[in-house]
Amino acid sequence: MTPGTVYLVGAGPGDPGLLTVRAAELIARADVILHDRLIPVSALDGARPDAELVFVGKQGGGEQVPQDETNRLLLDRARAGKDVVRLKGGDPFVFGRGGEEALLCLEAGVPFEVVPGVTAGVAAPAYAGIPVTHRELASGVAFVTGHEDPAKPGSALDWPALAAFPGTLVFYMGVRALPRIAEQLVAGGRAPEEPVAVVERGTLAGQRTVLATLADVARRAVEEGIRAPAITLVGPVAALREQLAWLERRPLHGRTVAVTRARPQASALAVRLRELGATVIEAPAIRIQPLDAELPDLAAFDLICVTSPNGAGALFERLAAAGRDARALAGATVAAIGPGTARALSERGIRADLVPDRAVAEGLVEALAGVDVARALVVRGREGRDVLPDALRERGADVEVLALYETVAEPLDAATAAAAASADYVTFTSASTVRSFLAAAGTPAGPRIASIGPATSAVLREAGIEPAIEADPHTPDGLVAALVADAHLRS
Ligand code: SAH
Repeated sequence: MTPGTVYLVGAGPGDPGLLTVRAAELIARADVILHDRLIPVSALDGARPDAELVFVGKQGGGEQVPQDETNRLLLDRARAGKDVVRLKGGDPFVFGRGGEEALLCLEAGVPFEVVPGVTAGVAAPAYAGIPVTHRELASGVAFVTGHEDPAKPGSALDWPALAAFPGTLVFYMGVRALPRIAEQLVAGGRAPEEPVAVVERGTLAGQRTVLATLADVARRAVEEGIRAPAITLVGPVAALREQLAWLERRPLHGRTVAVTRARPQASALAVRLRELGATVIEAPAIRIQPLDAELPDLAAFDLICVTSPNGAGALFERLAAAGRDARALAGATVAAIGPGTARALSERGIRADLVPDRAVAEGLVEALAGVDVARALVVRGREGRDVLPDALRERGADVEVLALYETVAEPLDAATAAAAASADYVTFTSASTVRSFLAAAGTPAGPRIASIGPATSAVLREAGIEPAIEADPHTPDGLVAALVADAHLRS
């Protein structure tokens, strides 16, 4: 049997965006993934459903799975012809025992490859606004680790040499080691006022940084309650944080925002919110379910209105199932309720003739004022409002409503509901997200409630909730802008 290949892969410091393209490729292909604790939460999302995933890190921060056991699994699976990804936090060759595992493979005649990762000692400072090297301040950087307990073997760091090192020192060591690090460096000749930064949970949600000096860093870290994982950086570059701290300056930094829309739509909104610094809780209260509806002859309509991106998607799925394509809409005027729907249509080859300024049914009615309509088709979800069909009928049009999907309530687990209830903001992007969320999680008492527009706000008010924020324009972008404005006012 030809052995499989062992890939020693770095997963980066924790932010899922810092996992390399190569790492993602290999995770998606692997037969077996042996992973540590300090990997991004979403790192395994792309794994094959039939892949064998084995946790070989520290159990809940306690007992480490013995290295022998990891080694045995690694060789056993590779010898069975499987491709194995050994996924480690940060970089596999920086304090990750990657070298040992590579040697193990070499001795066993198992082919291996190494995929470097973004190491915490560079990434955590970068997110804290600290360049590990800087012209005139540091022309070198040393990565250092040692045993937390100086009494244990392997703790013998050469402190005088480290103190004399002409550059930045980055310690991959816990906060318990701080008193010793500071003492030994000062004893070795470093100035007590030399800047030190301790970065906790670098690149992860809730990253915190303490900027101190060698003289007071141990006390300050205890006062701030700094916990693992953390790196400690010593050197004049640490002081650059005072000018370069960019993370905390993002408009939604430190705010927690719950997103209640259906999962496929939630992700785009979540990405935008995270980029602005928010911690996002995905609490999808609804799910989109296709309905079995007969597609009418589209050529019979001179106006086709599409009232949501889901409607656009469902319409084209139905066309494709019938062996047809965008040409089926060729003869009609096509109206989209807003920019998201227009985008969903244009991705499928249809440029909407009409997109109202206000992305609500009333806006679409206004935009259609000058258009002659004999027969209209309104493509929408089952629960859609009748504002548009009613208005068209009033103008003498023959209107058919085609409901292609329905939104069904998605149960929320208790932990997600609790997390949403303690968020700073809960966002609602449709009437159905309001109804389903309230049914699943009750009325959130603490968070500020953000509504995408008047129709959603009306449903909130019916439930006795006055939205603190109503987006204008009534789009996801408008909602994000409204959140940023509110957070700014309250900072
Ligand atoms: N191979 C990893 C390091 C493993 S050693 C890498 O290249 O990053 C584990 C130590 O790394 C932790 O004790 C902590 O000091 C540091 N560390 C790992 N992830 C971290 C993070 N997100 N923020 C701060 N320190 C981190």
